[in-house]
Amino acid sequence: MTATVSEALEFIKENDVKFIRLAFCDLFGRQKNISVMPDVLPMAFEYGIPFDAHAIRGFTDVTNSELLLVPDPSTLSVLPWRPQQGRVVRFFCDIKNPDGSAFWGDTRQILKSVISHTQQRGYTCMVGAECEFYLFKTDENGEPTMIPFDNGGYLDVSPLDKGENVRREICLCLEEMGLKPETSHHEQGPGQNEIDFKFSDALSCADNLVTFKQVVKTIAQRNGLFASFLPKPLPDKSGSGLHINLSLSRNGVNIFKLGDSEYSGVTESFIAGILEKTPEITAFLNPLPNSYDRLGAFEAPKYVSWSYSNRSQLIRIPSAHNERCRMELRSPDPSTNPYLAFALVISAGAYGIEKGLKLKDSINVDLYQADKSITDSLVRLPETLDEALNLAKGSELVKSTLNEELILRFLHLKTLELEANQQAVNKHDYFFNNYFK
Ligand code: GLN
Ligand code: MG
Ligand code: MG
Ligand code: MG
Repeated sequence: MTATVSEALEFIKENDVKFIRLAFCDLFGRQKNISVMPDVLPMAFEYGIPFDAHAIRGFTDVTNSELLLVPDPSTLSVLPWRPQQGRVVRFFCDIKNPDGSAFWGDTRQILKSVISHTQQRGYTCMVGAECEFYLFKTDENGEPTMIPFDNGGYLDVSPLDKGENVRREICLCLEEMGLKPETSHHEQGPGQNEIDFKFSDALSCADNLVTFKQVVKTIAQRNGLFASFLPKPLPDKSGSGLHINLSLSRNGVNIFKLGDSEYSGVTESFIAGILEKTPEITAFLNPLPNSYDRLGAFEAPKYVSWSYSNRSQLIRIPSAHNERCRMELRSPDPSTNPYLAFALVISAGAYGIEKGLKLKDSINVDLYQADKSITDSLVRLPETLDEALNLAKGSELVKSTLNEELILRFLHLKTLELEANQQAVNKHDYFFNNYFK
């Protein structure tokens, strides 16, 4: 909305703003925030606002628990669901150490570094995310139940689709926040929905996804519903994916544009790099034990392969024109931290370009029905979080994109989480209380 510190301060003065949310994400993409009053904001821009980093999962130990939030003025957004007198705005923040250096766990900063690295090579990566979610009924106390809001299916209309009003409100709210919603529909599962907003540069897209989840959760709750971004909330129904669409531009021109032969080798190498590296970054793209219940069914991939209009594959090249020509990575799910996910996927593509990787032939078969002779010849995605964590541990790409401290903490906490899951006596209750709610 605004670009500079003085423009942001001016906006706050002119628009009856009373509360300023300083927002950031933990290692796992969960949004956190602290509210400050307008008088404090100049100090936030200059020095940062301290918080207890030990109380944020994965961040620091108690001996080093001081970190500072410095708002990024270009991310100012009014929260439309809060009162419009004495308004509330939100900034995404950089997370700094007390000496002013960048904090190792600031995943937004990690994505920024990857973006500038790609830009130094002459490329800008544009990203579009398609985030699916379920709407569930709540009980008399407003607590979530596992009963879907409706029994509609893909592209159904009302009265089968009961989500139309909620999606409408979400789209209007996203628009007010500058996200440019483009399409919305009922998805395949009962109570499952999808709303897509316009692609953008990778950093804005990750910020937008964090905003998107908050808007969906908030508006669902205001309608007496519970929105879930779990990859597989219902065992025998369609899972929720977070397809990541990527294109590359050079001097402002999308080189994914069909027929652009000068750079077709570059786009092929970019895709080949992502294909090669997806298994080892899967722990970050699909970080919950529940993520692995989704992969391999209901149009979520299981093997490393690509094709054009085939939705059983890891990468699909959708039919599109001009600036929308792109590739779609279909394995990620909404439980990912989008900053880490985009950083790793873009790095994987850059690795492919650097190595001049050749793209293998596409395979246009239904991989859910395919003959064993075909599937045996393909690399498969990890089938469990355990397998994914082991692949991540040995990954050079993960090492060169993220930092040592983050990798150690992330993998350690995920290992503990996995053990707790394995030890749970009543698996259903454990899942419901720890993940579903
Ligand atoms: N829900 C599927 C997934 O988990 C995608 C289906 C679709 O978008 N048509 O990825
Ligand atoms: Mg879609
Ligand atoms: Mg979909
Ligand atoms: Mg898609």
